[in-house]
Amino acid sequence: MNSSRIIGLTAAVMTTACGAAAAQDYPTKQISMMMPFAAGGPGDAIARIVAQGMSEALKQQVFVENVGGAGGTIGTARVAAANPDGYSILMMHIGQATNVALYPNIKYDAIKDFEPIGLVGEVPMVIVSKKAFAADTLKGLVDKIRADKDSVTYAHAGIGSASHLCGLLFFSAVGAEVRQVPYRGTGPAMNDLLGGQVDFLCDQTVNTVPNAVAGNIKAFAVTTLTRLTTLPAVPTADEAGLKGFDLSIWYANYAPKGTPKPILDKLATAHQATLASATVKDKLNGIGVVVAGPERATPAVLAAYLKAEIEKWGPVIRKAGVTGQ
Ligand code: ASP
Repeated sequence: MNSSRIIGLTAAVMTTACGAAAAQDYPTKQISMMMPFAAGGPGDAIARIVAQGMSEALKQQVFVENVGGAGGTIGTARVAAANPDGYSILMMHIGQATNVALYPNIKYDAIKDFEPIGLVGEVPMVIVSKKAFAADTLKGLVDKIRADKDSVTYAHAGIGSASHLCGLLFFSAVGAEVRQVPYRGTGPAMNDLLGGQVDFLCDQTVNTVPNAVAGNIKAFAVTTLTRLTTLPAVPTADEAGLKGFDLSIWYANYAPKGTPKPILDKLATAHQATLASATVKDKLNGIGVVVAGPERATPAVLAAYLKAEIEKWGPVIRKAGVTGQ
């Protein structure tokens, strides 16, 4: 064997040994959890609770990094391109599936560029308006849009966001579309709804329920087929006339493709321990999240679910003819 071959082999053995040691010691420094929407919104609130639980499980700080814009695709692309060493992970919602059809020129592959860690849970949404809006029911809102769509504005967190998807389903059910105002997250969108700068929004319970209960906004309908215990008087969209309307927003954690298996195993174990913690569950339930049970919080279930959701939403989105950049 010549000397350069021996040096090459030694280097390969050392790299593998270092990789194994890195995986064994992992984590030795803080971990970034990307939340690709602005601070102060539903995704941010969920990510902060889960990151806190993961910090305890991994005995290292997991901090939330907010990079909003373009329906979550900017922050998501950043994690797809990150070093796959376990120190960059992503929390993304249903947009991981819907963005495949919404952004044909997207810079990452939602399946091939990520390793699934696990589902977090599901969150219903509520269609709400500013307090001074000239209608008090979903029917009143729909009538107003059908009569004069140019007089109404809808806020959302960009094409690919949950609020955009809800709007897309709503406008296709109503048969008319109003002017839409995109934000980097529904945290800032809700601020403008509270300030009366936009007319209505469909957002997750995290944001909508406290403001509806406080009387700061009007709640017209819940997007799932069952009413919320937190807003018992608010009908479902199905009850209020939009037959079959059924949308809830799921969240999940991912790592960049190529993250070593021993590190992925540690992340998946920490994810499962986090969701099994009574403190985390209480906090998530408190903001309206239906937490994934242990049988659903695994990488294999997330891989299958993501694929099924991409197949489910692709035709709906293509039929609506909406695309991002
Ligand atoms: N989840 C986003 C946020 O936290 C909102 C959305 O997707 O509509 O801002």
